[in-house]
Amino acid sequence: MFLFTLLPRCLTLTFVRSYDAAESQTLCIWRPSRSIAIPEDNMTTYRLGVLTGDGIGPEIVEATLRVLEAVQRRDSSLRFDWVPLPMGWEAIRKTGSAMPESTVEVLGKCDGWIMGPHDSASYPAPEQEKRNPSGELRHHFDLYANLRPARAYPGLPAVSPKMDLVVVRENTEGFYSDRNMAWGTGELMPTPDVALTVGKITRPASERIARTAFGLARGRRRKVAIVHKANVIRRAYGLFLEACRGVGREFPEVAVEDYHIDAMTAHLVRRGADFDVILTTNMFGDILSDLTGELAGSLGMAPSINAGTGRAMAQASHGSAPDIAGRGIANPVGLILSAAMLLSWLAGERGDTPAGDAAKAIERAVVATISEGPRTRDLGGTASTKEFTAGILSHMRA
Ligand code: ATP
Repeated sequence: MFLFTLLPRCLTLTFVRSYDAAESQTLCIWRPSRSIAIPEDNMTTYRLGVLTGDGIGPEIVEATLRVLEAVQRRDSSLRFDWVPLPMGWEAIRKTGSAMPESTVEVLGKCDGWIMGPHDSASYPAPEQEKRNPSGELRHHFDLYANLRPARAYPGLPAVSPKMDLVVVRENTEGFYSDRNMAWGTGELMPTPDVALTVGKITRPASERIARTAFGLARGRRRKVAIVHKANVIRRAYGLFLEACRGVGREFPEVAVEDYHIDAMTAHLVRRGADFDVILTTNMFGDILSDLTGELAGSLGMAPSINAGTGRAMAQASHGSAPDIAGRGIANPVGLILSAAMLLSWLAGERGDTPAGDAAKAIERAVVATISEGPRTRDLGGTASTKEFTAGILSHMRA
């Protein structure tokens, strides 16, 4: 049994997973963390922002909304009010900005949102000087915990067929310099031949992400691997390592190891199944989660949630995949499972059992579809995004 739970905001982000090797499916299961408040009409309505984004965004966001609509049909106690908002190229054309202030303002009034990918490398020069759209939202709403599970699914070819881990990535600082600044990109060029970049590691940010990771590990296989480069970048990664180890001492039941980032890439390829929770910084988490997603079967399958205090954003681990955009062949599972993670998170925040059950139902339907087919091309099949989504929907009805 696979579960991740978010406890109420006052307790900081905590994910709980109970592990049962006999269970062949990966299930998101919410464990109630406080008394359940049932609304008088027995219905909970979530206001969810929808940011379609660029590249394969329209294809995978549509697939995700169809799955969430199926959730509503299954369970009359759950309702979603969609709030479509411009982001990326659509927003540049409408407002001149890839992440307009109006979008940010409305998101602040939503319960959470579905974030499509953005192709920020293709944006006009002035946009390149700003934080990219998801970086801006992570920064603005302090979505400090980026959880990126990578799990091999039964019947799906994978380099690491027994992989079942979660990369817990610190999301607000590190060596993505623009995340560290109130103003500016954090990059300087004193001369055309010299580039300087601001990196930042702080004890509070390291400790709070470590608490998320150790809380998650406590409900899983009780192992945390801290990934760093403290042998070279001694002060910054030394501080990260020390802060994480300090938090680890509050969780004596969890085994702690640490690895240099370069060695970790080799360990993941060689023995990816050995790892449970990987706790790391912003840039390393970004890189490692692409690797683990692909080792577990396909980057197109890799979900993620960006969560802070009282807000969360569902966002697939992969990018906008411009090479396959508009061809109707993208795998929508990464974003669909991200939406399931968002429901699971809402369940933990609001004490809402149906939202947790819906997350489980989505994941069961995905696992069944992968196992029986059809499958998209990245999974070795021939199905289009729509055909694959129809398979998931049929399992939601079953
Ligand atoms: P970013 O910098 O935003 O992460 P990127 O261009 O570096 O983007 P991706 O867009 O994630 O990387 O694409 C990497 C590779 O994975 C591409 O070959 C792409 O086609 C493939 N890919 C990514 N997402 C999917 C998906 N959902 N379905 C199928 N293939 C995908």
